[in-house]
Amino acid sequence: QGTEVVLKAAAKKQRTVVVASTSEVYGKSDAVPFREDGDIALGPTVKHRWAYACSKALDEFLALAYWKEKRLPVIIVRFFNTVGPRQTGRYGMVIPNFVRQALAGEPITVFGDGTQTRCFTYVGDVVGALTEIVTREAAYGGVYNVGNIEEVSIRELAERVKALAKSASPIVNIPYDQAYESGFEDMPRSVPDLAKIRALIGYEPRVTLDEILRLVIEHHRTH
Ligand code: UDP
Repeated sequence: QGTEVVLKAAAKKQRTVVVASTSEVYGKSDAVPFREDGDIALGPTVKHRWAYACSKALDEFLALAYWKEKRLPVIIVRFFNTVGPRQTGRYGMVIPNFVRQALAGEPITVFGDGTQTRCFTYVGDVVGALTEIVTREAAYGGVYNVGNIEEVSIRELAERVKALAKSASPIVNIPYDQAYESGFEDMPRSVPDLAKIRALIGYEPRVTLDEILRLVIEHHRTH
C-alpha cells in the first residue's frame, strides 16, 4: 500500500521512482544465475516467507503499470544481500550474526546443512549503482539486478568469519525447524545475472567478500 501511495503522488508530479525490490522475488527458481526476465517460483501461502516475495512482486507489477499507463519514470532494482558495517543483526541477518558470535566466542550458528549459497554485496557498490542508474532514461520501466557474483555457501561463510576474526568459536549446525518458526523455507541458491545492469551503466561490484568481512569485523570490534 505504501508503494501505491508513493507511485500515485509521484505520478502527479512525474517524479522518478526507484522501487527497492529484492532477489527474494526469484523465490525457489533454480534458473541460476537469476535473470530479470526469468520465471519466479514462489512457495505456498502457508509458508510465510513467500508473503514478502509476493508483495514485492506486486509492487513491481504496480510500478510497471504506472510506467505503461501514465509514463511515470520508474526503475526497479532487485538487491541481493546488501551488507556492510552498521547493518543491524536485529532481524537475524547472517553476517552481523556470525561476526557477533565469532567475536563473543559463542557458537557460530549455521542453519540447515550450510550448503545454501548467497552473493553478498557491499553497500557502497549498491549505492554507486543506484546513483548511476537514476541518471539513465533508458532504465525507465526496467527491472535490474544489483548484486555481486561471488557465490559462497553459508558453511564457507562461517569458516571465513571465524578465520578472519581469529575466533575460537565452534561452528554448529542448527536444523531449520529449530532455527526458524514453522512456516519458513530457505532459498537454496541466490546468484544475480548482471548482464543487464552491466550493459546499462557498466556496473561492476568492487568490494570482495573478504574485504566486506574485514570491515564488518572491524566495526563490531569498535562498537
Ligand atoms: N543463516 C544462518 N545462520 C544465522 C542467520 C542466517 O545460517 O544465524 C542463513 C540463512 O538460513 C540463510 C542465509 O544464512 O540461508 C542468509 O540469511 P539472511 O537472513 O542474512 O538473508 P536471506 O535469507 O534473506 O538471503
